[in-house]
Amino acid sequence: MLKQFSPDKMLNTPFGITAEQLRKMGKTTILTDLDNTLLAWDQLDATDEVINWFTILKEEGIKVMIFSNNNEERVARVAKAINVPYLARAKKPLGANFRWALKEMGATPEETVMIGDQIMTDIFGGNRQKLTTIFVRPVKQTDGMATKLNRMMESIILKRLAKKNQIKWEESL
Ligand SMILES: [Mg+2]
Repeated sequence: MLKQFSPDKMLNTPFGITAEQLRKMGKTTILTDLDNTLLAWDQLDATDEVINWFTILKEEGIKVMIFSNNNEERVARVAKAINVPYLARAKKPLGANFRWALKEMGATPEETVMIGDQIMTDIFGGNRQKLTTIFVRPVKQTDGMATKLNRMMESIILKRLAKKNQIKWEESL
């Protein structure tokens, strides 16, 4: 059961991920969470770091979609500013919208990575769809209300993974 919740990789930040690393892994496509993955959950606008990272990935041929459980207003504001496709209210970890997103991006599960800061939504949801899952440290150490219960369950899972020595934070892929 623990396997369903185990990320394939754990990175301190997503911004070191490069197109070259992804291609070596056979990946063409990124689905990424927004809140506390790319931006602090209460930061309205994309930072230069986010804009630059997306710009370079896209230039180098990686397809990217912002895949967030937050509302349309929040997600559209960021996605439109950096000109990437997005889905708001994605209902992670449920599978239907993951499948919709892959279809939309023209990608298979094998060639897609899911990046996110939450085990219960991003990682569990991605694993169920057989995506490669990359867990990142949250940008900000606090969360919106909706996330608090998930964080409690997450901390139990992370402790179990740590016991099995399945936890290893890395700097890059
Ligand atoms: Mg998040």
